[in-house]
Amino acid sequence: MNVSFLGLGAIGAPMARHLAKPPFSLTVWNRTKSRADAFATETAARVAGSPADAVRGANVVITCLPTSHEVEALLDGPDGVLAGLAPQSLFIDCTSGDPATSRRIAARLAESGTAFMDAPVSGGVSGAQQGALTVMCGADEATFERARPVVEAFGKKIVRCGPVGAGDAVKAVNQALLGIHIWALSEGLVALSKAGISPRLALDVINASSGRSNVSQNLFTERVITRTFPRTFKLALMEKDVTIAAEFARENRVPSPLTQSAADLLRVARQALGEDADHVETVKLLEEWAGCEVQG
Ligand code: NDP
Repeated sequence: MNVSFLGLGAIGAPMARHLAKPPFSLTVWNRTKSRADAFATETAARVAGSPADAVRGANVVITCLPTSHEVEALLDGPDGVLAGLAPQSLFIDCTSGDPATSRRIAARLAESGTAFMDAPVSGGVSGAQQGALTVMCGADEATFERARPVVEAFGKKIVRCGPVGAGDAVKAVNQALLGIHIWALSEGLVALSKAGISPRLALDVINASSGRSNVSQNLFTERVITRTFPRTFKLALMEKDVTIAAEFARENRVPSPLTQSAADLLRVARQALGEDADHVETVKLLEEWAGCEVQG
């Protein structure tokens, strides 16, 4: 099966690596070509010079870009996806996208007989390396079943959440929870530290209590207490996700003051910490405001 993967970023590259072996024949494209060349030296993948070249002859096309807008922008022009797409192919977008743009992309692709599925993922870079991602899918049943053998290469829990856009919506709500947990635990641990209570001890207690979460059990334990802050998932991308969740709630006329506040606060954090900051570095803004660092 010919698979094309467009977007070899922090999560895209380890996902694509699972497709660089039989029964798949992989072609990759990345905006910065040197990244695709480096990927190809470690794998059997072919490097394409443009999106159109990448998707020519592909049965399945996968994208993993920052937002749905970059995916939509990739469709048009002489080097765009639509210029090379084979009829009856399948387009799987693993970007954490927004439902409305995904529906628009699906409609454009349907004009040339291509089926679309939004399929954002969760599990981080380590989950992608292990091929153990959760994949939240938005498509009709037939498209979902067609996509499943490809998605199984990097996914473990693969769920059809509803029609096109439903995967994006579930992912956005998940990300709102992640952002809120990071912000709330940052506030709590900075306050405990300032009061002279060991944050390592406090986390140990919280992780055996009802307030624990992935953020307390994994992210803060491994990164904040140790002050390592590896850059695996950009704060800018998490802010984008939480903004999508707030918009989704608004569109559905659901009051969502907490999600909206989280989106606003994460935008402040992004502006203060910069475009390259990791999502867990959010704690550094709270530390700066309080004049106190969370030290193990
Ligand atoms: P990165 O910033 O690491 O990579 C982004 C990728 O998109 C790169 O390949 C980049 O190319 C490409 N790109 C950026 N802008 C454009 C553009 N205008 N046109 C074409 N290509 C472009 O992001 P991630 O890999 O971390 O994230 C990708 C998606 O996956 C996002 O939606 C994110 O929210 C989601 N995600 C990320 C996770 C993570 O742990 N990192 C976890 C779960 C979901 P170039 O090399 O040229 O910059």
